[in-house]
Amino acid sequence: MTERDQYMIELQDVSKHFGQFHALRTTSLTVRKGEFLTLLGPSGSGKSTLLNLISGAYSASSGKILLNGADITNAPPRKREIGMVFQNYALMPHMTAYDNVAYPLKIRGVPRSEIRARVMDALRRVGLAGFEHRKPKQLSGGQQQRVGIARCIVYSPSIIMMDEPLGALDKNMREQMQDEIKTLHREIGTTFIYVTHDQEEALNMSDRICLMNNGGIEQLGTPDDLYFRPVNEFAARFIGESNLITGRAQEGGALRTESGYSLALPASEKLVPGKDYQVMLRPERIRVLAPGQQAVPASASGQVSSVSFIGSMTTLGIRLPEGPELKLKTTSLPSGSRLQIGDAVALRWESEDFVVLHDA
Ligand code: ATP
Repeated sequence: MTERDQYMIELQDVSKHFGQFHALRTTSLTVRKGEFLTLLGPSGSGKSTLLNLISGAYSASSGKILLNGADITNAPPRKREIGMVFQNYALMPHMTAYDNVAYPLKIRGVPRSEIRARVMDALRRVGLAGFEHRKPKQLSGGQQQRVGIARCIVYSPSIIMMDEPLGALDKNMREQMQDEIKTLHREIGTTFIYVTHDQEEALNMSDRICLMNNGGIEQLGTPDDLYFRPVNEFAARFIGESNLITGRAQEGGALRTESGYSLALPASEKLVPGKDYQVMLRPERIRVLAPGQQAVPASASGQVSSVSFIGSMTTLGIRLPEGPELKLKTTSLPSGSRLQIGDAVALRWESEDFVVLHDA
């Protein structure tokens, strides 16, 4: 089997423009068979454009799209057999759940005898056994979206694409359905392409995340890659929270900030002395040292500038003398410490916790 045989979708130098406006800059991307790939990015970054190019709703301005090795660049949507789940469910309101799910089988000429078993199996998989006679308005938002998903899996498309499918649901229902969609993906093994602008949803669900901005891909990688190894400032800011610090590389590998701090960086980073770099330190990687704790040398000392306590976690702003203000998140402050604005604190981080943003 060649590497190419493992791809369900291949985009080769694909672009899309509307008049002078480039909704998708020239992009190449492969999606493996059975993979759960999420397109993540802010509004207007090109996620839906990419999805519409794959589904055939839009035709590409340039480039080539392959589905399972076959060139579909100019194939009409119905020939692509790609399943779509939409944010607004797009169910037929006068039909029951059963008839909505049966519809794609009927238009494909599947024998009646087979339809019933397949529809009931799809409804069971999405937890809707017993709801087949209800019409959409007799179902909750979450249940309607389950019908939307059942209508998609029932005819076994080669890819299932979901465009913000949980966008209209409340937080609890979103989280429950994230788990259900993950389980469904594991069970049926189909390739999923999922669109969201919610970074936690993307981190939780995906094998890989394709982070988009301004009609292009900023970073493509596993959730771990994007969280722990962002390649640039956009990725570092978009995923999780971050402290971003700039400075000039010194002989020996440390980074000197404008305000005179010398930060030791991971030994694996080979920085060019004299060159400016931007580094990132996640707020949860900074520890507050207990007063008088001698065993561990402090990395810096500062003054508390803000405190926000949300039960499970405390978020602190710490102002370093003449230096940057750092954000810090902790689930465990040294016992007995009730930090208040103005308190002096000693901080500790490890050089390995800095991520150098090489693409900045
Ligand atoms: P959202 O999260 O808001 O849905 P998105 O990342 O899906 O955003 P797209 O819908 O792909 O973004 O849009 C990317 C850009 O292309 C936007 O600036 C949008 O206005 C533009 N665009 C999309 N479709 C068209 C169209 N049919 N005609 C003109 N411009 C379009």
